[in-house]
Amino acid sequence: MAMLEKTRFIKENLEEVRESMRLSCMRANREIKTVKLIAVSKTKPIFDMLKAYDFGVRDFGENKVQEILSKYDKMPKDIRWHMIGHLQRNKVKQIIDKVFLIHSVDSYALAYEIEEQAYKRDINVNVLVEVNIGNEDSKFGVSANETYELVSKIMDLEHVSVKGLMCVAPIQDDPENNRKYFRKMKAISDDINNKLGKAYLNVLSMGMTGDFEVAIEEGATMVRVGTGIFGERKRL
Ligand SMILES: *Cc1c(COP(=O)(O)O)cnc(C)c1O
Repeated sequence: MAMLEKTRFIKENLEEVRESMRLSCMRANREIKTVKLIAVSKTKPIFDMLKAYDFGVRDFGENKVQEILSKYDKMPKDIRWHMIGHLQRNKVKQIIDKVFLIHSVDSYALAYEIEEQAYKRDINVNVLVEVNIGNEDSKFGVSANETYELVSKIMDLEHVSVKGLMCVAPIQDDPENNRKYFRKMKAISDDINNKLGKAYLNVLSMGMTGDFEVAIEEGATMVRVGTGIFGERKRL
């Protein structure tokens, strides 16, 4: 795609996604500012990301440590980087001081490694607990039943703050099929807050290009949209 064409493509996609988000909020009686758009830029070049930046995007989602590292210095400093992919313990130290939020904490061992690295640097790291809401073998995340236990164990770590829950819902032809999973995520989050006696978990990261509208209707506070902004990814 030529540069000018690419620029227009990303601009129009962003306008469309934002308009859909606005309409979903209206349907759900929610204020638009309660939902944040995270532009998932994995596999996409810096040029495309800078275009999105020019059109107001400050939150970018990546799923590989190496890709965050290689893009980090090439992008403006006011960007919030979201680690949304599976994170290996031995790579935590490479990104810990670069990411705004780690969406994909799925074990106490990983949370503990984040604690150790954060302690060394005297920083606090915000995380979400990933839930395998569709119980899929191919997906990472704790099961619905294990979520409360992991959240409460992470709460005891001094340099890690658990802000909410994240899920990657099953791939569906009809996004309506994921409504029950998003509803369940919201219920798990509400249930944990009730058990804790306060609204400790505020973030629900759920919904992607195919189903973010339904996710917003069911309470998502962050949607992670890649294809809908940048176009199809090449298969690697
Ligand atoms: C790739 C990815 C997305 C974005 O997917 P699209 O369907 O392109 O919007 C969202 N979340 C995670 C965890 C991803 O890996």
